[in-house]
Amino acid sequence: MNQATERAPPLFLKNTYIRTPDENCVIVHGDFLLYTFGLAVNKAISCLICLECQKAINLANAITHVRRHFKQAPIPPGLFEELGTVFKIPNIDIIWPLKPIAPIFPLRIESQPFLFCTSCNKGFTSQQALNNHFRLNDCGDSKKWHYGYAQKIHSTHIGYLKVDISKLTCRTGHEVPVSKIFTNNFKIGIDITKLPISSPEDAYILTSFFHSDKWLDHMAGFTPEQLYEARRTHDPEDMVGEQLRDLAKRYIDVSHKNIDDENFGLQKVLGAIRDPRRVLHLLH
Ligand SMILES: [Zn+2]
Ligand SMILES: [Zn+2]
Repeated sequence: MNQATERAPPLFLKNTYIRTPDENCVIVHGDFLLYTFGLAVNKAISCLICLECQKAINLANAITHVRRHFKQAPIPPGLFEELGTVFKIPNIDIIWPLKPIAPIFPLRIESQPFLFCTSCNKGFTSQQALNNHFRLNDCGDSKKWHYGYAQKIHSTHIGYLKVDISKLTCRTGHEVPVSKIFTNNFKIGIDITKLPISSPEDAYILTSFFHSDKWLDHMAGFTPEQLYEARRTHDPEDMVGEQLRDLAKRYIDVSHKNIDDENFGLQKVLGAIRDPRRVLHLLH
């Protein structure tokens, strides 16, 4: 076809298609539940994908990247070395495929059609950008190009990769087996009750209840499991139950007197137990 007269294909309409992990998307590898760290491996281009920000990420800074999303994630030692070896993932950058591949899950597909250099399979938004590419790169004298749909790849540089949307499943006439996908793919991953409580993942969440009300200072380092254990009802088989009960009674007696004597106004109202005798009674 005469390229000057080639017509651009229509916009890519994402709602027309169902996007689910395909055979190139690995979310479980052996005992490693990659999705619990927000990760997947795409086998078609041998790269790591962050499911949280839906981007390709470099193997070299994968740990730092995962920690950005999950500060306390117990990343198994050797995980990234193993993934690198098994799936032949380069440390930095990706090996750019010279042919279109099936769309990478879950990266978004650009709605605007792109112009692709036929020689190196890189996409450009405009004829001018494509011409610049031809001028600066040795991509064959024929300067062949064609239209296609693109996915953005964040690697050392941002690039647009051609994807074959005929590999996608059309939404029409297809039920998405949501519960089947869930039960087949998702096992319990990280047990958060065993992870230490820490400050909010995002330092900008300063209004967090734990943070603003200073509870965090008392709870940091303990796990939710330990906190549950500390506040559960007394069990007859528990050791030193009697001594603890006595200590608790003495503590409430003394502290409540201090709250009453030393404070006034709102602080006193907030800190005081409305009826200390009732609480002491409950401890019997
Ligand atoms: Zn991410
Ligand atoms: Zn090129």
